[in-house]
Amino acid sequence: MSQPMTHADRPWLDPEAEPFIKVQSVSKHFGDFTAVDGVDLDIYKGELFCLLGGSGCGKSTLLRMLAGFETPSSGSIIIDGANMNHVPPYERPVNMMFQSYALFPHMTVESNIAYGLKRDGLAKAEVAHKVEEMLAMVELMQFRKRKPHQLSGGQRQRVALARSLVKQPKVLLLDEPLAALDKRLREQTQFELMNIQDKVGVTFVVVTHDQEEAMTLSTRIAVMDAGRFMQIGTPTEIYEFPTSRLVANFIGNANMFEGRITENGQDHVIVQSKSPECQIYIDHGLSIQEGTRVWVALRPEKIRISKQVPDNDGYNMIKGMVDDIGYLGGTSTYRIKIDDDRIVEITSPNQARPKDGNPPIDWDEEVYLSWDAANSVVLTK
Ligand code: ATP
Repeated sequence: MSQPMTHADRPWLDPEAEPFIKVQSVSKHFGDFTAVDGVDLDIYKGELFCLLGGSGCGKSTLLRMLAGFETPSSGSIIIDGANMNHVPPYERPVNMMFQSYALFPHMTVESNIAYGLKRDGLAKAEVAHKVEEMLAMVELMQFRKRKPHQLSGGQRQRVALARSLVKQPKVLLLDEPLAALDKRLREQTQFELMNIQDKVGVTFVVVTHDQEEAMTLSTRIAVMDAGRFMQIGTPTEIYEFPTSRLVANFIGNANMFEGRITENGQDHVIVQSKSPECQIYIDHGLSIQEGTRVWVALRPEKIRISKQVPDNDGYNMIKGMVDDIGYLGGTSTYRIKIDDDRIVEITSPNQARPKDGNPPIDWDEEVYLSWDAANSVVLTK
């Protein structure tokens, strides 16, 4: 059994821990356009931190400021205790791996990896030793004499990674590191990337627009929108405890029910949802006034589907009609039409094999949806 996590694994929980990278009130303006809007961020040593957001949200600009390719319009960036504001890229303890990998096409794998070390004037034997170490780490020993065009996309990605790590930066900045790979290879490479990061212990800051990638890779994620952080947290916190509709919708799918708080007790809250019409019982108190307009987010896998009326005392249940079924083998996705023509999406594991080959729940059937009181997330924005 794995050991329980400690503060050493999650330094952001330890008030004594000193962040390795501090972004303090950083803004970046291009003319009158604000690409990054007064952000604060602490990243700890050894983290694999993801900046996640849609196109144009400012994540690459922030990464480029960490690298030193852009200068903040205001605020400071501190890395390993030193203010980086006037430090040029090549003097920072960071390296950047570009989306294009920027490998030299005419050089072999080993020459590509050795390039930076040779340019720095390292002795031949030392270069050879370090290149050897890197080739072993990224498991490219047998491809050392090949040129980039003789490699697969995943292998090229590993050469780029080796070339970025060989100079032992304290921080590696990765801009969409897996974007050039197809889906299958990307998933496999995500795990390789995590293993390599674990071995070298270097702090990784990754920019991605792919939420699954961020969820798989990260110790923590900052979700960005319009130059600001919407939420910073572990993948579990971001998925299970989103603090806004934007984050709930951006990470995974969420059914959003709009309503008002009609009862606010010490240990429970009741929300009257108007679309769909239902009473939602939440099993903990909230510091939100009665009458406040709220949205209740429910993840598709947190909702049960049944043909029988659930025993829920009238709370946390809605009736609907199966509008669409997506059979995915291990799970099925059901799109359920609720009386007001709204669609609620549910994913359900296919635990039992259907006896006669017929699905347990079929198209156009009347069904009940229900969920546990602990599964709702109440959002006010
Ligand atoms: P993508 O995933 O599409 O790369 P991003 O989140 O990385 O998006 P940025 O590259 O950080 O976005 O750009 C943020 C905003 O700043 C965009 O609207 C972009 O057009 C603008 N921007 C970036 N660089 C410049 C520049 N040099 N001059 C003017 N505007 C810029």
